[in-house]
Amino acid sequence: MAHELLHVLFMRQGYPGIEFREKSVPIGIPELANLIDDAVIHPVLWRDLRRRGFDDSAYWNTELLKLNTAGGAELPLAAHTGTLCDAIAFADIVASSGLAPDPLFTSAEPHSPVTVSLAKQFCSIITHDNGTTPESRAAGMESLITKVDDVLIAAGFQYFRLRTWVSVSR
Ligand SMILES: [Zn+2]
Repeated sequence: MAHELLHVLFMRQGYPGIEFREKSVPIGIPELANLIDDAVIHPVLWRDLRRRGFDDSAYWNTELLKLNTAGGAELPLAAHTGTLCDAIAFADIVASSGLAPDPLFTSAEPHSPVTVSLAKQFCSIITHDNGTTPESRAAGMESLITKVDDVLIAAGFQYFRLRTWVSVSR
């Protein structure tokens, strides 16, 4: 639908994307890379859709409901990347929806404190520069990759780094 068409349109306009350095990469890397790619481009894309008169409020209600009912206990960061993925996806939703961030974070905080604390940091990177140039988007992707690797290092991942496997195309 309209959303997917805009993805294609943005790509044609020379928007950056994340590329893999090798044909085969470890499990978990493509998922993180795609989430970062989306988290950077989605806020621009949704803003564009709203500007064209597309009413996305029902969509965000559904997404937020999914997020809040997915629930269950947060899994420890050190064991796998699930919580990290959730945090990037959450930041994407917060930044893309155009809704006030604080109530969204506050309502998720009791059951997912780590996810929320990471999502806040990712969100500030995504929304730091709301410019729509390919250069600023590429810079956003670079910052997010660096931030995710910092989180991985802090969580005790020894050899699992995004930088080893991905780069930003310009
Ligand atoms: Zn999309």
